Amino acid sequence: MIHITLPDGSVKTFDENVTPMDVAKSISEGLARNVISASFNGTTVETVTPLTTDGSLVLYTWNDTEGKTAFWHSSAHVLAQAIEELYPGAKLTIGPAIENGFYYDVDFGGHSISEKDFKAIEDKMLDIARGKHDFKMRSATKAEALQLYKNNEFKTELIENLEDGTITFCDHSTFTDLCRGGHIPNTGIIKAAKILSVAGAYWRGNENNPQLTRVYGISFPKQKDLTEYLELLEEAKKRDHRKLGKELELFTFSQKVGQGLPLWLPKGAALRERLENFLKAAQKKAGYEMVITPHIGQKELYVTSGHYAKYGADSFQPINTPKDGEEFLLKPMNCPHHCEIYNNAQWSYKDLPKRYAEFGTVYRYEQSGELHGLTRVRGFTQDDAHLFCTPEQLDEEFKNVIDLVLYVFGSLGFENFTAQVSLRDPENPDKYIGSLENWEKAEKAIMSATIDKGLTYTVKTGEAAFYGPKLDFMVKDALGRQWQLGTIQVDYNLPERFDLTYKGSDNELHRPVMIHRAPFGSMERFIAILLEHTAGNFPLWLMPTQAIILSISEKYEKYAEKVLNLLENDEIRALVDHRNETIGKKIREAEMQKHPFMIIIGEQEEKENKITVRKHGGEDLGMISIEDFSKIIKTEINKTLKSF
Ligand SMILES: [Zn+2]
Ligand SMILES: [Zn+2]
Repeated sequence: MIHITLPDGSVKTFDENVTPMDVAKSISEGLARNVISASFNGTTVETVTPLTTDGSLVLYTWNDTEGKTAFWHSSAHVLAQAIEELYPGAKLTIGPAIENGFYYDVDFGGHSISEKDFKAIEDKMLDIARGKHDFKMRSATKAEALQLYKNNEFKTELIENLEDGTITFCDHSTFTDLCRGGHIPNTGIIKAAKILSVAGAYWRGNENNPQLTRVYGISFPKQKDLTEYLELLEEAKKRDHRKLGKELELFTFSQKVGQGLPLWLPKGAALRERLENFLKAAQKKAGYEMVITPHIGQKELYVTSGHYAKYGADSFQPINTPKDGEEFLLKPMNCPHHCEIYNNAQWSYKDLPKRYAEFGTVYRYEQSGELHGLTRVRGFTQDDAHLFCTPEQLDEEFKNVIDLVLYVFGSLGFENFTAQVSLRDPENPDKYIGSLENWEKAEKAIMSATIDKGLTYTVKTGEAAFYGPKLDFMVKDALGRQWQLGTIQVDYNLPERFDLTYKGSDNELHRPVMIHRAPFGSMERFIAILLEHTAGNFPLWLMPTQAIILSISEKYEKYAEKVLNLLENDEIRALVDHRNETIGKKIREAEMQKHPFMIIIGEQEEKENKITVRKHGGEDLGMISIEDFSKIIKTEINKTLKSF
């Protein structure tokens, strides 16, 4: 008899060689129908693997990440079989599950694959899937494995690097692949499959190696899931911040200036400025002081901070000056500069906390292949701040920072988020800098602040940085994609490295605790996420133009100007479309530009000293007075933008 512990802590007794599927059946038939993968004592196993020892078992369904991984890993086998049958002579290499779906890297020989081939591959996959073939693992000797792949130099290379005795195959239908395991029970569970794209990929990612074709696919247990996924992909394409950024004239890139260095156009710069002013106002109320530091610093500064060791070799190289041996670096982080600002004076415990904030631009050399619109760039501006406090103040400071982050999220329409708390691994105390006592204080402060603020949270033990615990906000956007925004990090390392001190009530010198925090993260990445989350329909308070004035003909231009002046007096951002175009065309283009309100002006409006208002999306507010329109705008703004 063996004892199996389930995730709820219950322990069940079974005969030896019970399988995870048997365990599922013993719980309920319904569960057994949905279980597609399992892990035993932390290791992925097949649902048919006989269990021979006591241990903890977790059963996964499609709703678990682990379940999806097994589903897509298994689907990659089916894709491989389809390719082998459709393209005899094609050489299979590797084919893992990825975050959304799976791929297989294939050497198609002289053959090239394009979109017109996708349907045939999908049909073949579904044809195989319908056969309900079981996935069966078996061991093989190195000699057997090499024999099977004697005509495939890629698999041969993989096998050469494996230890004899550890090699396993997976069989299903007439197909065999080199594989470590982790499958769904049978192919029949795969009800929908789609080939998404093909791309070139070098064998093992090395450009000196042969180029292969990477076939990307995705599969689902229901046709409906695939339909929904494809709709989501379509929507994501429409919301791509690179596309919207161009349409809304927010930012651009220039090959002459350099890759990964965004250029903010007037409308984008104005948007950024509004975001900055919004945060500055809240920070001022929260007791932050603005500081300004240069874009470069002596190399020695970053050697002291440890950033040179981290970013030095792989990033922008030192800037030399005519003076021998003098070297500066583009700043990769603002923290060292702020530490030196703290060091400008001797503080007493009564002066703390000090809270220094800066919209500081930093530079990091990302590989050109990694660059992506505004989300991965080489120069970006952090909404950075560093708080220096006594260990006793940490608790309250942490809560205040959480309040600020929540205020930012609320004002920008991010409602769906969870907190992720990263703590140290208590088994490995040597991995961390700072006293045990301080770590305990800091972790307690983070946990109690998180619970106090009523956040939904997960705890990741062992995920803390060596220099301190942290809290990350994981935000879900309108398309259900998850982004990490708003990190709050406790740091015991930099105060040590920069020898930061304050005089305590005992008249002795003590080390302050440092908190790094950035609610937006970087202005570039944040605006990209905000663009995709809102599809460019920002909250009204942030919109570059809140209202556009469209006159029916040139005759009413004068009245249009008068309306503009009145709105500007009321601090409403408006502009007039002066072009000699039909009103229909002006309205269509204003819709495209996502202007929240359209003000239409003609004879009747001028006569009655009123305006006709239409909302973005088509809602008609009719003919109203300018004062009433101002009130509508103010009410709308106050719905999202509360005071901090
Ligand atoms: Zn496999
Ligand atoms: Zn920092």
